[in-house]
Amino acid sequence: MELTIGWLYPKLMSTYGDRGNVICLQRRCQWRGIGVNILPLDQDKKVEDFAKFDLIVGGGAQDRQQEIVMRDLRGEKAAVLKEKIEAGIPGVFTCGAPQLLGKYYEPALGKTIEGLGIFDLVTKHPGLNVPRCIGNIAFELVASPLVEEIQQMLGDCPIVVGFENHGGRTYLGKVSPLGKVVKGYGNNGEDGWEGAFYNNAIATYAHGPLLPKNPFLADWLIVKAIEKKYGERVDLKPLDDSLAHLAREAILRRIC
Ligand code: GLN
Repeated sequence: MELTIGWLYPKLMSTYGDRGNVICLQRRCQWRGIGVNILPLDQDKKVEDFAKFDLIVGGGAQDRQQEIVMRDLRGEKAAVLKEKIEAGIPGVFTCGAPQLLGKYYEPALGKTIEGLGIFDLVTKHPGLNVPRCIGNIAFELVASPLVEEIQQMLGDCPIVVGFENHGGRTYLGKVSPLGKVVKGYGNNGEDGWEGAFYNNAIATYAHGPLLPKNPFLADWLIVKAIEKKYGERVDLKPLDDSLAHLAREAILRRIC
């Protein structure tokens, strides 16, 4: 078995260690004998390249980089990405990435950036004199069938931990939230929701990076990618995640 992991604009969108999500997926596949190709999707890549991935990762970025990315991503590349997510190809998008996959992002300075409208959400930056949402975050997963499928894999559904740093405040339309905030700000610091979940795509404000801190989410993405590509449901060989587990417990003790 072999999976191609598409990586959206690594040169422009890799803040706060989000590349760790790609490394985590790669290693967890390789430790189970699953081959991995990493496909960086930078500006020099063509539309055809955007059609080649089995799993997609998008990291955070600052407003300036988001604007550059959106100039490149519009049109055919956007259409291909949308088609793949609509078809259920799994993905994880952090912070700046979901802002671009939503309907629009209003930055602190400059014009509104039109998004791809894949997630039914909008993001508004309240201005440079309003404090950013910064700190450790913990949230309970609420999105279905994600919760049920994680429960099936692990026997329970652990609290997710991460680190957030965003000025933009995200408001959900009809899309399901990914989680409910236990500690931290989440989407906007007001309504208690964190992230979004659509088809098999996870949108979150949690850097950390997310997947090494919460490896069960990485395994869920791998299982989904294999299911989509090969049409079979696999039980992944369990790995020793005791250190990640202890780290999650330690951070939960510290912040909750
Ligand atoms: N530019 C966005 C914001 O400040 C995203 C930041 C990020 O990706 N960490 O809201």
